[in-house]
Amino acid sequence: QSIWQAIPQGPPDAILGISEAFKKDPSPKKINLGVGAYRTEEGKPLVLNVVKKAEQKIINDPNENKEYLGITGNPKFNALSAQLAFGEHSPVIREARNATVQCLSGTGSLRVGAEFLAQHYTVHTVLLPSPTWANHHKIFPLAGIKDVRTYRYYKPSTRGLDFEGMIEDLQRAPEGAIVLLHACAHNPTGVDLTPEQWRGILRTVQQKRMLPFFDSAYQGFASGDLERDATAIRLFADAGLELLLAQSYAKNMGLYGERVGALSVITKSADVTKRVESQLKQVIRPMFSNPPRHGAAIVVEVLSDPSLYAEWREELKGMAGRIMQMRQELFRALQQVGAPGSWNHILDQIGMFSFTGLTKEQVRVMTDKWHVYMTFDGRISMAGLSSSKCHYLAEAINDAMR
Ligand code: PMP
Repeated sequence: QSIWQAIPQGPPDAILGISEAFKKDPSPKKINLGVGAYRTEEGKPLVLNVVKKAEQKIINDPNENKEYLGITGNPKFNALSAQLAFGEHSPVIREARNATVQCLSGTGSLRVGAEFLAQHYTVHTVLLPSPTWANHHKIFPLAGIKDVRTYRYYKPSTRGLDFEGMIEDLQRAPEGAIVLLHACAHNPTGVDLTPEQWRGILRTVQQKRMLPFFDSAYQGFASGDLERDATAIRLFADAGLELLLAQSYAKNMGLYGERVGALSVITKSADVTKRVESQLKQVIRPMFSNPPRHGAAIVVEVLSDPSLYAEWREELKGMAGRIMQMRQELFRALQQVGAPGSWNHILDQIGMFSFTGLTKEQVRVMTDKWHVYMTFDGRISMAGLSSSKCHYLAEAINDAMR
């Protein structure tokens, strides 16, 4: 008998489990709109041209080796990542108030940030938007931030933002609570705040002395514009707030499996920042010792070479543009098949995902009858869609709703 004879079967992952089911489905009509990964019009994964060029440069560099990086990763990568998020002329960077450390993509950056907070921040309450990326609910309590609460974010009746609800819930939160904010392209709803609404949130966060923790998994991928997608982060940072930021290069550079990202902790002074960084090392060393080299080296090449950087911006615009095109085409197809209700939200939502408004039962029809794989909350990945599939998807949605 095994020591684990009685071990219960764990639940399938809400998102990655869908890909497993998709793989097993023999139907030629099947579409996977579950996982958030970019696909070409032909449905293939995309390696960016700039990434291939950067890799070539790295391979040809005679000084390149496979030694360990330091505990906080590639120093150039950290500096360039902070610049990308906060802006070249940011007071945060000028005054050396950012402790930026390379971590394992967005997830790893969130986890290191949460463990740092569990050890060095007194308020162990975090507020997450409702709904949010499911992993947020696990990362914080497992890192030691046990009191996880939610604030209203999405309003089903309008398929838009519940701004008043959000402000009310933040007002009601304990003084100093950590508040998780999606920097742009909110996952799963695709609903973002306007700059004016961000200013309202900033005022509330300041009044309540909350600690903002930005999750930035889609900079440049949302609108096609790196600066525009950093608006919220820069608004808060330029207002002088202390905050945390988790960055991911999974989507915007297509480096999903390279696991490359960064955590920044912004403080009030260079002196405090130095000590914060020393404590981040204490978190990282026993967790994964030091991060992997390759993805960070790619990012350094792309961000530091002006011609690669310019080309990256074009490729980003291309990816974001194709997704916006899919929104238009799906919208038109839904109107053509006469799917009930208004579908303007498909056009209004931003980023990789659309929140269709389909119920759990309707999603079941989508999958069982139409072989369309998507999460049970009604979310579809627009990045997984192509022109040739829009009509079929619209027919499926129309059928599922009747
Ligand atoms: N945060 C959000 C909101 C996300 O959507 C994702 C990716 N699905 C991540 C973080 C982290 O992704 P990764 O660890 O692959 O960078």
